[in-house]
Amino acid sequence: MVAPKTEEAIELLRFNGELTSKTLAEVGKAVAPGVTTKKLNELAETFIRDHGAVPNFLGYDGFPASICTSVNDVVVHGFPSDYVLKEGDIVSVDLGTKYKGYNGDSAYTFPVGEVDAETKKLLTVTRESLFKGIEKAVAGNRTGDIGHAVQTYAESFGFGVVRELEGHGIGRDMHEDPGVPNYGHQGRGCKLVEGMVICIEPMITAGHRQVYLAKNGWAVHTADHRNAAHFELTVVVRKGKAELLSTFDFIEKEGNIKF
Ligand code: MG
Ligand code: MG
Repeated sequence: MVAPKTEEAIELLRFNGELTSKTLAEVGKAVAPGVTTKKLNELAETFIRDHGAVPNFLGYDGFPASICTSVNDVVVHGFPSDYVLKEGDIVSVDLGTKYKGYNGDSAYTFPVGEVDAETKKLLTVTRESLFKGIEKAVAGNRTGDIGHAVQTYAESFGFGVVRELEGHGIGRDMHEDPGVPNYGHQGRGCKLVEGMVICIEPMITAGHRQVYLAKNGWAVHTADHRNAAHFELTVVVRKGKAELLSTFDFIEKEGNIKF
């Protein structure tokens, strides 16, 4: 069993969750055709440091940037670069903060300008699959209940569920136990107890779920090079209903993100 967090620890995780959410919204405001992913990284790093925190991705296992920018067929862990976003792309932005020894970690896949109908569907279903998982993040359930909910929802639309990567606990370390797979069986896996803090992060493919690791050892691509989407939130396991520590409200209330 994984130990629950104290309410004091949850308070610091809540601070990080909120700053992480606001940083994602700040990046989202800048996502547009003509913008480089390196520019998004600079904006995020400045925003995080201006709020007295540090970007916890920078240097993590040697990761070279403050955020992951994963464009189109890149599922996760894309490096920010001189790549210029163009109309019709999608870009998953994954980032986190560290403040007073605790971590934040969330992700959102932004459409760049107008995207095609299938891609809109992929974004909508991936986002919804995350909330299907969150509904199961309640005391007494198991991680398999979350994975099963995500998987059955995403697959019912014919999309693929990436299995090589998963959600995770979060606390003083960005990645703690338990692993939270996006597939699985009801009633299996780690038991969820009140006060456990976990990140749920479906990675869903438009086509086949098979992926491969790029030569740089980081970027995960779909094998068929079709698009993939990724949404992530941090939640506290509670009795009856999970408590969100991060949110997409700051992004979606801006009104410029629609899919
Ligand atoms: Mg993340
Ligand atoms: Mg994560």
